[in-house]
Amino acid sequence: MDSVPSLVRTSAAELYDSYVLRNYPRAPVTLVRGQGTTVWDDQGRAYLDFSSGIAVSSLGHCHPRWVAAVQRQAAELIHVSNLYRNPNQGELARRLVGLAGPGRVFFCNSGGEADEALIKLSRLHGVRKSGVEGKCIRVVCARNGFHGRMFGGMSATPKEGVQKGFRPLLPGFVFGELNNLDSFASLVDADTTAILVESIQGDGGINPCTPEFLVGLRRLCDERGLLLMLDEVQCGAGRTGRFFAFEHAGIRADAIAMAKGLAGGFPIGAVWVGERAADLFQPGMHGSTFGGTPLACAAALAVLDVIESEGLLAHVTRESVPWIQELGRVARDYPGKVLEIRGRGFLVGVQMAGDSAPTLAALRERGLLTAPAGVNVIRLLPPLNASRDELARSVAILREVLAGA
Ligand SMILES: *Cc1c(COP(=O)(O)O)cnc(C)c1O
Repeated sequence: MDSVPSLVRTSAAELYDSYVLRNYPRAPVTLVRGQGTTVWDDQGRAYLDFSSGIAVSSLGHCHPRWVAAVQRQAAELIHVSNLYRNPNQGELARRLVGLAGPGRVFFCNSGGEADEALIKLSRLHGVRKSGVEGKCIRVVCARNGFHGRMFGGMSATPKEGVQKGFRPLLPGFVFGELNNLDSFASLVDADTTAILVESIQGDGGINPCTPEFLVGLRRLCDERGLLLMLDEVQCGAGRTGRFFAFEHAGIRADAIAMAKGLAGGFPIGAVWVGERAADLFQPGMHGSTFGGTPLACAAALAVLDVIESEGLLAHVTRESVPWIQELGRVARDYPGKVLEIRGRGFLVGVQMAGDSAPTLAALRERGLLTAPAGVNVIRLLPPLNASRDELARSVAILREVLAGA
């Protein structure tokens, strides 16, 4: 390894240029420290972080209670595998069942893995439904949806940029128009096992399912014996002011994928499966070496504790309404530049009329970090505990950029 210089401090930019796979378009910023909603780069510049690591840092950066919980657990027990029990996994499963309804929970490490587990669950349901393997495998998904980069989720993500170069895909996925119940119903046949949608499409550009649509999907699933599988990887964990975004529609799912914000920055994925389907996975049928470690679960438990003790669901509900109204006012003042503000709670998309990349860069240069989505959408994903003042600053920076650009 002596070709790798260890004494000379090479800049992060040079290291990325030389050694990191080029699978991401990456902003020319090296972040070194975070506290609350603020992150600092290696030049000492502070940014208001409304990217939250793509909806992950739900309590902001380095929340003291999160840090204390993770430090304590790291010094006690980090990993034991799923060959043995650990108290945190059981407790986290209990808490998630309390939030989602009677059922059981499987733990993994990312949204992609959670979605793979949902897709495997749909296959098992198809076997139970049809009595044979490999026949009842059809899953109806939404156009413009996003279910991660693994083979199942990628096949459920009808986007050229995601699928190109990786065909053949996993068969069985068909795609309906979001919020068009007839479109979904027409795709259901005797070999359909499940419906899989995001309650609010995130990467696709912040496109919420209407409550009527979710209620309709629930009824369709009940009538046709399908599993309603909701991908809450991005819109869940409190981001919309309810723990799950589908709660706004007053429905229940048969299975839910969770990840991103659930452990506040620690890698985690989780799948809740309702009672009706929870016995489909039997010992040996699925697994994850790292899933549900004491450390990951301690991080998630800290997130749930802080959401509760700091009243963050009520905070998101209360503060998001005037914030989104203000963003709407900005949009109306620049009708040639901003077409629409979409979303709910702290999951908001600014639909630009033209190329959003220069605006995204200009926001960053003025100290506001955001995340791109869909076609020319700028995603605003403040941490759940962002203050009224921080929300107001994001609006002011957007206004400045639109005025100047
Ligand atoms: C981010 C995301 C995924 C993939 O999660 P990873 O942790 O990147 O694998 C899946 N579904 C949705 C809705 C997402 O937003």
